Amino acid sequence: MPANLAVVPEVRFSDGRNTAEAAPADPQLIKECEAWLNGLSDEFLACYRNHNFPKLYAKNGKFPKGVSAKPVPEVRGHFQIWQRCRDCGIKRWYTCTARDIFAVDRRYEYEWPDGYNMPRGGASYITWGMILDERNRRFAEALIGLAA
Ligand SMILES: [Zn+2]
Repeated sequence: MPANLAVVPEVRFSDGRNTAEAAPADPQLIKECEAWLNGLSDEFLACYRNHNFPKLYAKNGKFPKGVSAKPVPEVRGHFQIWQRCRDCGIKRWYTCTARDIFAVDRRYEYEWPDGYNMPRGGASYITWGMILDERNRRFAEALIGLAA
């Protein structure tokens, strides 16, 4: 091993999964992260960073199911657009005018339900790869079984 590389202590969940390796060990937070990942509902796990929000277009004079828009009473000409994830029910919203309903770099606000977000500081211990591993652990066998 080159002498200039620091040795990073290995940090693991109790079932052996590695946490993000650069994080200093915080045993209490590691337990909370493990409980969060193990307790995350299948719907939230499947949707994590990949929600299924309905597209914004009117069809037959109606919004698609899961989309609503309200005028902002305090600011003339502004609207709040709401979208509800078809798969897990999480809601997001933003404010716009009729000229920028669609915009580059749109920023959304979210209503996060209890249990969806990892514990504060958890990103030091839970990597995106770990979330994908958990998806594989829970879903892969059934999906492969359904492949015909
Ligand atoms: Zn979702």
